[in-house]
Amino acid sequence: MNEKIAPHLEELTRALGDIEATGIRAEFEKLLAFRVPPDVAKQSLLRKFGGAQQSLKKELKVKDLAPNLKNFEINGRILELSEKALRPTEGTVEGRPSTLYTGVLADETGSVPFSSWQELPCQVGEVINVKNAHTRVWKNRVRLSIKERSLVSKVPEGAGTPASLPSLEELSKSPVKKLRDISSLDLSVSAAASVLQLSHRDVVVKGRQATVISGVLADETARLPFTSWAKLPGVDIGSIIRFDTAAVRMFRGVPSVEFLAGTRVSVIDGPEAGELAFSFESVKKDPVPLKMREVEARDGLFDVVTSGNVVSVRPGSGVISRCPECGRAVQKGSCRMHGKVEGVRDMRIKAVLDDGTGTVPVMFNRELSELIYGKTLEEAEALMYSDISKDAVFEDLRRILTGRVLSVRGNASRTEYGVSFVAESVRAPEDDLAVRAVELLHRLDSMEENRVRSRAVSPVAGEVDDA
Ligand SMILES: [Zn+2]
Repeated sequence: MNEKIAPHLEELTRALGDIEATGIRAEFEKLLAFRVPPDVAKQSLLRKFGGAQQSLKKELKVKDLAPNLKNFEINGRILELSEKALRPTEGTVEGRPSTLYTGVLADETGSVPFSSWQELPCQVGEVINVKNAHTRVWKNRVRLSIKERSLVSKVPEGAGTPASLPSLEELSKSPVKKLRDISSLDLSVSAAASVLQLSHRDVVVKGRQATVISGVLADETARLPFTSWAKLPGVDIGSIIRFDTAAVRMFRGVPSVEFLAGTRVSVIDGPEAGELAFSFESVKKDPVPLKMREVEARDGLFDVVTSGNVVSVRPGSGVISRCPECGRAVQKGSCRMHGKVEGVRDMRIKAVLDDGTGTVPVMFNRELSELIYGKTLEEAEALMYSDISKDAVFEDLRRILTGRVLSVRGNASRTEYGVSFVAESVRAPEDDLAVRAVELLHRLDSMEENRVRSRAVSPVAGEVDDA
């Protein structure tokens, strides 16, 4: 073990200095204890602390902001500013300020929400300089955090000042973008896109009935989910629309656009639609596969295809038990949130794929796991109980999957430990999964019959199955 991790520790020391004193070594070992592979743990620490170290020295732009940066300097124009009085119970620490200031700061590279524990010496439209600024993650987004120890000053504008930021008017405009370029750096955007999917759902918001429209948009560069709280007359699947000033939301690391009351949406047709670089016919085709390098480089991707060889199967793959309340994996009969629970059996696979340009860890749910493994959950369980080794299924998975080429379609997002890809569908180019699916279905059918029979005898077992 030590021989395996020694080169990683050396590299961390070269990049980050005294890793014993700074506690980075301890954090590395903690990650290993959580079964994070050494190279992934190392990369994650390099990102985490390498970024913080760099930020000590330099001034950052909004586009450089990442989670958990410390002690950096930033200039930006205030786009929004409001204050919120905290109730005494919320100010947990004695002597903490009772007012929180929140808003949006922007430079020419993007916009970032901020919160400040000190009153800012400026108003909307003015430029500030923040020293000893921090970042944290709030509502799936990086947020600039101005602490009591941060130094904030107003930057005067005019001749001879370093502040050469775009005007308030310019920064407040929501930029026209291709869908691929919409990211967490945008708070609002404008774009043209075709409607690929659309559905209406009735929901109750604050006691009132409302209809929310949701679906998928596409242009020639990407697909993105959208929701609309306003009615969209004349818009249907196949429509090409232009929207102006839609809000950008982040969900599980993937951006989506939200049409609010202030968003203008219009249908494009006739010659104007002909001038666009895409049509409904061109965007409804399957997405063009991405290189893994491209997947690794992005913060969040919606409905993309990539393929590579399985280079490893991660521990934690195989038959697991889930909490019936929240779906979290149950460890030793107990859920992190709900304590002792009667777990529900499930199967999942976490496999690392590599295409020569990069590596991407991919999660497969039960249905897809059964397909690529070629065994059902019940068969895997049977193997688990027939073998004395508790890793029998894991070893079997490694034997069967390692080296295989898989093409996956799904969503990717960046987490603290790097990019993670959740597969929605899978193909094995050199292996006809469709044939395998039919075989599996036949076996499932016969097992289902057995289950129905056993359920008649033992209804309690049946209930657990249904949970
Ligand atoms: Zn739970």
